Amino acid sequence: MTFVGGRDGDWEDRAREAAFQWLDEHSDDEHPLFERADLASWTFEGKRIALIDRQRGIRKPAEFRAALSIMTTFTPPGQTPPYEDAAGDDGLLRYKYRGKDAAHPENRALRNAMAEHVPLIWFTAVEPGRYLAVRPVWIVDDNPRELEFSIAVDSAQYALARAGTLSDERSYAERLTQQRLHQPLFRARVLSVYHSECAICHLNHAGLLDAAHIIEDGKPNGLPVVPNGLSMCKIHHAAYDRNIIGVRPDAVVEVRTDILHEIDGPMLKYGIQQMHGARLTLPGTRAARPDPERLEARYEEFRSAVA
Ligand SMILES: [Zn+2]
Repeated sequence: MTFVGGRDGDWEDRAREAAFQWLDEHSDDEHPLFERADLASWTFEGKRIALIDRQRGIRKPAEFRAALSIMTTFTPPGQTPPYEDAAGDDGLLRYKYRGKDAAHPENRALRNAMAEHVPLIWFTAVEPGRYLAVRPVWIVDDNPRELEFSIAVDSAQYALARAGTLSDERSYAERLTQQRLHQPLFRARVLSVYHSECAICHLNHAGLLDAAHIIEDGKPNGLPVVPNGLSMCKIHHAAYDRNIIGVRPDAVVEVRTDILHEIDGPMLKYGIQQMHGARLTLPGTRAARPDPERLEARYEEFRSAVA
C-alpha cells in the first residue's frame, strides 16, 4: 500500500472520483458554471479539499501526490484567452509550467498526474469567479524546453496520444478539442454576456438556449468567439441557421417574406412572424456585441436565400 501524506493512495483516488461526481451532480445545461466559493469549500469524508487554488493555476491538495485541477483565468470578450489557441504540432493544447523551474512542486504534481494516468479538471473562468469545468483531461506530455505540458481534453485524444498516433490524426484531434473545449466555452461565454436570454425573444431558460454562430463554424471568421455569437433560444437559433429569420447589421430581425405570409399555429404566428422588425437585445459591453462586419456578411447570405 502506498502512503501519501499519512493516507493510503486509494484515498486520493476515491477523493478524485468523488470530486468528478460532485461536478457532474452540480452542473447541467441550465447551470453550467461553478462559483469559486463552492469549489473552494468542497469536502470529502469530512475533510475540506479546495478543488481550485486561490491564486495559482495548478491545484494540488496537500494530501495529494498528483495535481487535481488546472485553471485558466478570466479573459474579457474580444481578448484572446491565454491557453486556448496554444495548440502544438500534434493538435493538443498546452498548459504553461508554474514559473520557470521544472522542479517546482506544482509542476511536479502535474508530472505525477501524467505518470499515474490520473484525470484532472480544467477550470476556465467564464466570468470573474465563475468557472466552466472541462473534465476529464489528462497530461500526456512534458515539454521542458517550452516550459509547458500537453493536455488531452478527450478520452479518444488521450488514447491516440498514448498509442503515439496523434500526428496521423491531427485534424480529428483538433475536432475533438473543438467539441470538448471550444464549443462549451463559446456557449458559456455567449450566454454569460447575454444574461442567459434569447437576444430575439428574451426567453430566459439557459437549458433552452444556444450560442448561435453568426458566421458558420469552419468558415474564415467563423471562430467560436463572443463577437461571432448570439444567444438564441433553440427555435430562433434553428430559424436563423436556416435563413427563416435574418438579422440586419443594425441588429433588427427580419422574417423571410414567404414565411411572413404563411398561415399556421401560434408558434409561427407569435414565435416567428411577430419577431419581424424586433431589435436584438445586445450586451452592454461593446466588445461583447456582435461584430457588424460578420452580421453584414451573414445578412447577405440571408438576402440571397430570400431571392
Ligand atoms: Zn428566442
